Amino acid sequence: TDSDTADEAVRATCDDATTCKRFATSKGYWKDPYMQYFARSVGERKAPEINRGYYARVQGMNHLLDAFIRKTECDCQVINLGAGLDTTFWRLKEENLLPRKFFEIDFPTVVARKIHNIKKKPPLSKPIIETHSTDSLLLDAHSLDSDRYCIIGADLRDISTLDQKLKKFQLNQELPTMLLSECVLVYMTPSHSSNIIHWAAESFHTAMFINYEQVNMSDRFGQVMIENLQRRQCNLAGVEACQSLESQKERFLKSGWEHADALDMMTVYSMLPQEDVARIERLEFLDEKELLHQLLQHYSICWATKDKLNLGLSQLAY
Ligand code: SAM
Repeated sequence: TDSDTADEAVRATCDDATTCKRFATSKGYWKDPYMQYFARSVGERKAPEINRGYYARVQGMNHLLDAFIRKTECDCQVINLGAGLDTTFWRLKEENLLPRKFFEIDFPTVVARKIHNIKKKPPLSKPIIETHSTDSLLLDAHSLDSDRYCIIGADLRDISTLDQKLKKFQLNQELPTMLLSECVLVYMTPSHSSNIIHWAAESFHTAMFINYEQVNMSDRFGQVMIENLQRRQCNLAGVEACQSLESQKERFLKSGWEHADALDMMTVYSMLPQEDVARIERLEFLDEKELLHQLLQHYSICWATKDKLNLGLSQLAY
């Protein structure tokens, strides 16, 4: 059916993210020794502005996530929504920043691929086994559950099943909780994504939500981005929420979140540690700065908090 085709195109976007991240790390934009186990070859060359865009995206997300984990002294949980083949669990383990439990959700077929790789590659499975206390570790085709890491196959548009599965795997509603969505909500209708945002606000008294996706999509450049995706059968069903930084914040504030901030990625890029930015700008020559700026102005990070425990979450920023 049409909707199966559309879902398949959305699932395929996780390969884009993986191959682009793999290429950028092969050039030295940032280190990720785990990516190689999910994308076998480095793949074809990506333009320097794409690599810088991914650098801003990954560093931008990591900055807020790490700040939250430090603020809670790791006494927290993380739920990565539409995680794809993301490697953050392994990075956090290596950096001694593991939350009490790290959850990931994606479509069952994507999760099955991820679990298959984990099973076959000891550098991926070892850290999971090391952080697990008993001999029994739940590992089947569509879910993995260990003490510190849990991967669940589920459709994010079906909130009651999602909620049920998370609870089955010991989601703790009393713990400060970070929800991440990196290029995920934009593929859903505004009503599906606001259901998720609303569910998250209802489920936790102390929480932070970080959403990375397109913004400023009503101008000419944004229209071209949309057309390029549509050519690949990929429909940005949620693009309505991507009109402006204001509309990004608004959907959190009207769904039970106390505080929200949003920045476009050009601004985030200018606020990242500038020595490291100078280092990556020397990696590849970029002639056309204007294109990079346009691209960065069409993506954003929006973050929202609620803070019953008064941890000071609303102060987390760049
Ligand atoms: N967050 C990862 C990253 O940034 O590297 C992957 C991003 S990829 C562009 C989008 C991911 O969201 C895909 O893995 C896709 O399968 C997942 N996704 C989209 N809609 C979903 C839904 N309704 N239920 C579960 N996963 C979904």
